[in-house]
Amino acid sequence: MSDTENSPNAVNDEVIIGIDLGTTNSLVGVVDSGFPIILADANGDRLTPSVVSYADPENPRVGKEALRAAQTAAAVTIASAKRYLGRPFSDLNDEEKSAPPFRVVALSDGGIGFKILNDTVVTPVDVSSEILRHLKEIAEAALELKVNRAVITVPAYFNNSQREATKSAAVKAGLSVERIINEPTAAALAYGLDKLDDEQTVAVYDLGGGTFDLSVLQMRGGLFEVISTAGDTQLGGDDFDTALALFVAEQHDLKDLSSEETTQLMAEARKAKESLSSADNYSLRLPFFRDGKSYESEITREQFESVADVFIDRSGSICRRAFAEAELKGVGSVDHLILVGGSTRVPRVQEQLEAWFGHEPNLSQHPDEAVALGAAIQAGMLCGRVRSIVLVDVTPLSLGIETFGGLMNVIIARNSTIPAKAGEMFTNAVANQPSMAIRVLQGEREMAKDNWLLGEIEVPFSPGAKGSARVGVQFAIDRDGILEVLARDTVTGEDHVLEIRNSAIDVDDAEVEKMVSESVDYAFDDMNARVWTEAKLKSEELLPAVEMAMAQVGGQLDDSDKADIESAAANVRSLLDSGDSNAAALKAANQSLDEATQTLAALLVEAAFEDV
Ligand code: ADP
Ligand code: MG
Repeated sequence: MSDTENSPNAVNDEVIIGIDLGTTNSLVGVVDSGFPIILADANGDRLTPSVVSYADPENPRVGKEALRAAQTAAAVTIASAKRYLGRPFSDLNDEEKSAPPFRVVALSDGGIGFKILNDTVVTPVDVSSEILRHLKEIAEAALELKVNRAVITVPAYFNNSQREATKSAAVKAGLSVERIINEPTAAALAYGLDKLDDEQTVAVYDLGGGTFDLSVLQMRGGLFEVISTAGDTQLGGDDFDTALALFVAEQHDLKDLSSEETTQLMAEARKAKESLSSADNYSLRLPFFRDGKSYESEITREQFESVADVFIDRSGSICRRAFAEAELKGVGSVDHLILVGGSTRVPRVQEQLEAWFGHEPNLSQHPDEAVALGAAIQAGMLCGRVRSIVLVDVTPLSLGIETFGGLMNVIIARNSTIPAKAGEMFTNAVANQPSMAIRVLQGEREMAKDNWLLGEIEVPFSPGAKGSARVGVQFAIDRDGILEVLARDTVTGEDHVLEIRNSAIDVDDAEVEKMVSESVDYAFDDMNARVWTEAKLKSEELLPAVEMAMAQVGGQLDDSDKADIESAAANVRSLLDSGDSNAAALKAANQSLDEATQTLAALLVEAAFEDV
């Protein structure tokens, strides 16, 4: 596209993050260069405990930090807020009302609140929004850009009000929710199960910190449908911790634990449990636990299993019930079993499942990251960063259009998986330009003329000032390798379409190799050409602007300023005319001209204000 330039708000800058807002842990992911990844915080941690501490209510703490605060300030530290999200107080059972170390209260509107200080009450939406804001910040730090769009996962059984509450929490955290997806569906995406043929049945066994969900999904027409869900909202890894803590307390005859002691013992029990997933035994230590006395327990994996089995069995009965409900003829009709949730790292859980289901569970993904990974994939699909996870084929060479100055602007990069879709917004670079020529290019070189021209369309538009016409250009390659180029005049809404058959994908291997090796051979020259072109565009903008300003307010400058500007401008002009395309020199000359005209620019601004 000659006579156009890139606008700063190009469409493909719009990143969407994927969030697993868990009861125990939350994670954030994104698709980067075509791959879904989970983003780590400054400490390198990818799991953020879903805990918010209001020890300082003005400055709530989230995650690990809050968890640490829980040891000493349990009453103002809210954990598992997700359990209460979007539910009326009247819905709660006694355990949900009184078990947490913080106070659960009824709000005048029938909702649920947590009392953190005498008069201060926060809602489950408030707590969730703190967690979401924290995740947003992790993503922004990791990606070095601002994000405000997200895909968020929720349990398949969440009702409308729970889903709406999740959305409100996101909005409060400054995130717009592009889509809410079910956790088991996200997990299936992460495992790449959307590549399955139709009519396949997938069981997702999700044992998290405090909840157990079993979902049966059916693949239909390339989409997953949740055909049944079952579960227990009071079953999970926390039960293992509690059982192990009781076991230890009994060993040492420790009774009537204070809430601080309970928190400490539970934290140690959890550490023991997690270690026992890989080790055969563990020494659980409670230094200076009570009255200055320390305790120690040697725990074996068998001992742990003996206290955990009752909970694992409970999940087994739920599975059987779910299969009955899904009208499956027993576990044999499940084609795939995937394990999700941190607690499925317990070897005993895996063994039991294998025994019940008769086939080995798929463990190829980290069970506590699968849901977030799936959310990231869904987000990537929505913003065009993942075209589809179906790896049919890849683009052999980059596809793009020519922009102002004869530069190649890549829209779909080389090696992108197809189908692929991406777009960018362009504006007219010259006032009253009657049309924009969109030249579709293929290749790896910086300058348009060195790439292959696949086709061309002319988009006419009504005359307007520079930057007033906007054309959105979208490239879409379908599964068959057909490239459709759509150019939309955003003012009139008029579309222009160019279809390019096969040449986008079917390229001779030798030709591809030649193009790629040339792009390497000429990398230096190409880069110089790009920098030169960009500098030249800048000069061509700068020179007439300086001239106009001089005519308008130049009289107010003193002689030395005037001389400086004239010599800086002359330098730019002579470099432009010299014909040796010295990019670095021209860039430097532009810079000097910019500096020399500081006073001039200020005068111009003043004059503009006097005019109004
Ligand atoms: P949720 O979906 O409830 O937010 P997760 O999927 O992150 O939670 O699971 C958290 C639970 O997984 C916790 O109970 C934690 O102790 C447990 N967990 C994490 N890693 C392990 C491990 N290696 N062995 C056993 N349990 C683990
Ligand atoms: Mg989870």
